[in-house]
Amino acid sequence: MARIDDVDRIEVAPVNSRQHRSLYKARESIHPMRVAGVFRRLKWWIMGVLLAVYYVTPWLRWDRGEGMPDQAVLIDLEHRRFFFFFIEIWPQEFYYVAGLLIMAGIGLFLLTSVLGRAWCGYACPQTVWVDLYVHVERWLEGDRNARFRLDKAPWGGAKIRKRVTKYLIWLLIAVATGGAWVFYFADAPTLLVKLFTLEASSIAYVTVGVLTATTFVFGGFMREQVCTYMCPWPRIQAAMMDENSLTVTYQDWRGEPRGRHRKSADTSLLGDCIDCNQCVAVCPMGIDIRDGQQLECINCALCIDACNTVMTRTGGKLDLISYTTLKSYEANADGRPTLPLKKTIFRARTLVYAVLWSCIGLAMLFVLFTRDRLDVNVLRDRNPQYVLLSDGDIRNGYTVKILNMEGTERRVLLQLGDLPGGLMNVVGQDEWPSRTKEFILPADKVLQLRVFVTAPVAELSPGANNFRFSVTDLSGIEQAHYGAIFRAPEE
Ligand code: SF4
Ligand code: SF4
Repeated sequence: MARIDDVDRIEVAPVNSRQHRSLYKARESIHPMRVAGVFRRLKWWIMGVLLAVYYVTPWLRWDRGEGMPDQAVLIDLEHRRFFFFFIEIWPQEFYYVAGLLIMAGIGLFLLTSVLGRAWCGYACPQTVWVDLYVHVERWLEGDRNARFRLDKAPWGGAKIRKRVTKYLIWLLIAVATGGAWVFYFADAPTLLVKLFTLEASSIAYVTVGVLTATTFVFGGFMREQVCTYMCPWPRIQAAMMDENSLTVTYQDWRGEPRGRHRKSADTSLLGDCIDCNQCVAVCPMGIDIRDGQQLECINCALCIDACNTVMTRTGGKLDLISYTTLKSYEANADGRPTLPLKKTIFRARTLVYAVLWSCIGLAMLFVLFTRDRLDVNVLRDRNPQYVLLSDGDIRNGYTVKILNMEGTERRVLLQLGDLPGGLMNVVGQDEWPSRTKEFILPADKVLQLRVFVTAPVAELSPGANNFRFSVTDLSGIEQAHYGAIFRAPEE
């Protein structure tokens, strides 16, 4: 049986405990205590990987050939392109981005229905940056009690020095965070130089400024309030969780009645909880998991680490607080065994999410690897609708855009189809009118042409005549077509 004599009991007043909830209560500082354990290690790893991905990605290079950007991940707003390693997305292919967002949404539904608020506890940017800020704070000001003491201490040289150093490091992290974001939208090395030489665009400075401010304030000061009061996700996810979703749970049937297990006292009527409050002290949200499931709980599982550390030290049974489902909790409380994990994971809801996610992913992959890299768009002149030439022919004007979505130059043939007697002239080319024209398409560019098409009136129907512009890549089999209209007089 665990004994309190071996463990320091921490006096805490949970900020968000039920007795203290009030609409207008001023925020009380939360200084989570240092804790070690499986979930804390997992959080370190995830935090390290996510921060590395965020800060390093814009600096990765990818050779796409001459004249093409060599940044591996780039949202090129100026040329309206999105580059992701070997994939290039043009504006008309925006459905890929929509598909990715849908997949991210379904993936989040799947994760939540299996692992509860795992996103909130481990991967949400707010959680990751708050964790980083708390780490800096703990490193400079000491652990929980030292930080509370420093809060209450009068302002003096040592306190000012610690606080100024802390704010400076927080600010550096915030600037690096805001800076890293803008590097996704332009060539990172070039933009970095421009930012320092004050040659970058004002929107870049504004974006860095806004993100620096939000990171600094959200990560340093607002912390758990962002999750509790500003983020809609805790409310939405409630609809995605059910009695089979894993969530951090206090096994009150085991722990209660809680009490201090003094060696001298009779503990036969007490539960396993020795009321040491370590689980509350480590909680970044300042809540007491023993009050039951709460909106504030982000499922970070640090209270599991804290309680298991206590139980290990005192010789008590582990997992008084654990990841469990409501069904398993009820079964355990009735003396029945925990439900098998595979039943928790593989159930109708998660299978539907997984199948949906996989189908969209496979469909997107198929479309991605079979998509056209040559396209043609045509805009017909509206005014005038047509021109009657002196030789009796009819002329229509068009703006033709030929898109080369490859990273290499291409030779293509523009052709008229289904317009008997039709000929075309390209403005700026001193050639005779013909049914075909040859062009060199620059790499990854749109070639815009002014084209006049003429046709003998005898070959035309009154009003609208359907015909085609076709573009053929002369070095391959790729072709693109555009169905256009040629207007003739109504009589
Ligand atoms: S109660 Fe536990 S799981 Fe929930 S936020 Fe606090 S420490 Fe994390
Ligand atoms: S649940 Fe565990 S950590 Fe929390 S007070 Fe009880 S024994 Fe201590």
